[in-house]
Order: sequence, then structure tokens, then C-alpha cells
Amino acid sequence: MGEWFVSRNAWQVMTAGTAYFAVLYFATALAALWLTRVALPRIGFGRTLDPRELPADQYRREIAQACVSILIFGAGVVFPWAILKLGWASLTPDPSAVRVAAEVAALFLWNELHFYACHRLLHTRVLRRFHADHHRSHVPTPFSTYAFHPVEALLLGSVPLVPMLLHDFSFEALLCLPVLSILLNVLGHANYELSRSAPARGLLGASRRHALHHARYHGNYGFLLPVFDRLSGTQIDGDAATHR
Ligand SMILES: [Zn+2]
Ligand SMILES: [Zn+2]
Repeated sequence: MGEWFVSRNAWQVMTAGTAYFAVLYFATALAALWLTRVALPRIGFGRTLDPRELPADQYRREIAQACVSILIFGAGVVFPWAILKLGWASLTPDPSAVRVAAEVAALFLWNELHFYACHRLLHTRVLRRFHADHHRSHVPTPFSTYAFHPVEALLLGSVPLVPMLLHDFSFEALLCLPVLSILLNVLGHANYELSRSAPARGLLGASRRHALHHARYHGNYGFLLPVFDRLSGTQIDGDAATHR
């Protein structure tokens, strides 16, 4: 699989990358929308977090912005491809399942740290204008996941480069990174808490934490793990917005 990737030309890599991110975005957004607006409310599991109505054009705007991000992420696959071509990084052929799992776990932790650092930067005076597009969604939706300014897309899309320069990952683990990332992202933007009682604690609390970030702007800059916000004192009280 890795050999196939490296042997493609730049256009093929960018086209395949764009298709991959498009499928991930639309499949996860539509599945999350159905789960949190139809299936789970029907069986009485979980709850909507922010009950405010969405502006009429929010879905259309988010999807339009996300299409640009998908093109940037897709075209950006040329960078991991280029560093492999140049010999600055290598892929591990025929990895064991244990190795792939360990690499996915390492990439997950890196993704959390990378997102937190980028997100803090995006809230600084210099970069906040590029993050304003994402914050136009005061109430997040499953379509908010990739709805941001191209500069933010470039920043967040750089996530695999440093790990690839430091370690010979398997292609399978690298392929899992966008899947993992969009799943966590859609959890954070679902505006729906997946727990029996409120507020959800721990990892499932990510939905409430990120909904609060969209509602209040300051604080809760992390992705899934609350640890970086806890360490930096940027955590918003989880009980701050309990609607029922
Ligand atoms: Zn933000
Ligand atoms: Zn967000």
C-alpha cells in the first residue's frame, strides 16, 4: 500500500487525497447528523447541548468552507508524498498489527498536542482573524468540522509531517490519522452529549467542552483530551451550560 502511494505522481496523490478527505467529511457529518438528530433522541439517549436555532445559511456556509479545506487537505497530501520521494522520511513495509496500533496511539497523542498548540496560536492577536471563520458557528454542527479559513486548514493539515520526519511510520497508521481526527472532530462539533447523565465526564465530555468553546470563544482549546487545558488553566467549568 505504501509502495503504491510513493509510486504515484503528484496529481494522482492530490486527487486521491481530495477524494479521501471528501468521503471522510461527508460520511461522518451525515452519520453524526442522523445519529444525534434522529436515532439517539428517538431512544432517549444523550442530549442536545446548545439549543439555540442555527442561522438559515449555516449548513450551506459550513459545507462551502469545508469544500475549500478538503481541497487544501487533499492537495496537501503532496507534502508527505514529497518527503517520502526525497528520502527525508520512509515508510515501514509489512507492519504488524501491534505496530500499527502503537503508531496510531502515538499519532493520536501528537494530534492532540498539535491541535492544542495550533488552536492557541489561532486565538492570538496575530492569527485570530484566520480563526474567525470557524467561530462564525456559534452553535457547532457535524458540518463545522472542516469549516475554517484556508490558513487554518494549512496549519492543521501539517499534523503528520513532524512525526514522519522522526519515525518510519507504516502507511496504514498514517492513513488512520485523518479518520481518527475527523471522528474526534465530529464528536466535538456534534452539539450532542453521548452520555446517560449530564454533564458527561472524561473523553465523552469533549462534545460539551468544544460546544462551550464555540459559545464562549475563550477557553477549552483542546480536542479530545482535557489535559492540556487543565495544565494551562484554560478549562471552562463543565457545568457552565447545562440545558437539561
Ligand atoms: Zn477556537
Ligand atoms: Zn470548533
